Amino acid sequence: MHITLNNGVTMPAIGLGVFQSAPEQTTAAVEAALATGYRHIDTAAAYGNEREVGAGIRSSGLDRSEVFIETKVWVSDYGYDQTLHAWDKATGKLGVDYLDLLILHQPAPDRFEKTIAAHKALERLLADGRVRAIGVSNFMPHHLKELLGSTDVVPAVNQIELHPYFTQPDVQAADTRHGILTQAWSPIGGITFYPGWGQDRRNVMEDPAIAAIAQAHGKSPAQVMLRWHLQQGRSAIPKSTNPARIAENFDIFNFELSTDELAALDTLDTGTRNGPDPDEAREERFAMAIPEA
Ligand code: NDP
Repeated sequence: MHITLNNGVTMPAIGLGVFQSAPEQTTAAVEAALATGYRHIDTAAAYGNEREVGAGIRSSGLDRSEVFIETKVWVSDYGYDQTLHAWDKATGKLGVDYLDLLILHQPAPDRFEKTIAAHKALERLLADGRVRAIGVSNFMPHHLKELLGSTDVVPAVNQIELHPYFTQPDVQAADTRHGILTQAWSPIGGITFYPGWGQDRRNVMEDPAIAAIAQAHGKSPAQVMLRWHLQQGRSAIPKSTNPARIAENFDIFNFELSTDELAALDTLDTGTRNGPDPDEAREERFAMAIPEA
């Protein structure tokens, strides 16, 4: 299933995420995903595995043009010239000569002028045909408003934390208003259960309402959540390094949730963010330098 972005480029709705996929596991995960039928991979300069993503794509035997490659510019590379050079680093590691989608990993709230300059560099890369689409991540409505007031190209995608326990309806509405596709990170709620990310979290994968819907369809909770994203028009990029779960997360095109089931999933929103607050300025992020290719 494909989604048409606001500049006419089509993108496979489901992609493989590789955040926290160790470099030595990443190539095999990408190979497994491509063998299963995925044609979209979401990586980032900050994940330290763009090289291994590129290796997995090459060893799949697929042509470069058959795989939609999405990656992210890290905040320490924001600024016009720095972001142009971030493209050199990303394509050098991936071993490709263009990117399908290049997005800003998050706003830099305490130096937004650098975020705007980074976006202007994305616009240059787009005009030069070095990327097919550009976008943002973790942008709240006020960040979008400020960005749109100072730039020329409306981002194609806004990638945000989005699973049944945190649906950010205000951000989704702002994206829709501007013609921006919402893409869900932690689409099956990884941020609610992976180790080391805070105490007292409720694991969305263990939610009884989701379990009941899953049982009714003979599907897993992860499959139900992914189907919910698709039926509500979102892109989702579930992460796994396990071949069986990679396949499970792609086996979602043969069932349909009812309107009531979609509404039941919507009511689970707690309004509480699990991941980092995009408005919090964190100096240590700028200390993390992205290595050259
Ligand atoms: P996900 O919601 O994709 O959950 C991933 C976790 O779920 C892993 O622990 C994985 O373990 C497990 N898992 C995967 N499939 C299943 C299944 N079918 N049943 C049970 N468990 C399963 O969380 P992520 O946070 O990784 O988000 C997905 C992607 O979004 C990232 O990889 C990254 O590409 C992007 N992202 C972007 C962010 C941003 O700021 N822009 C922030 C966070 C993520 P295992 O590997 O062992 O299967």
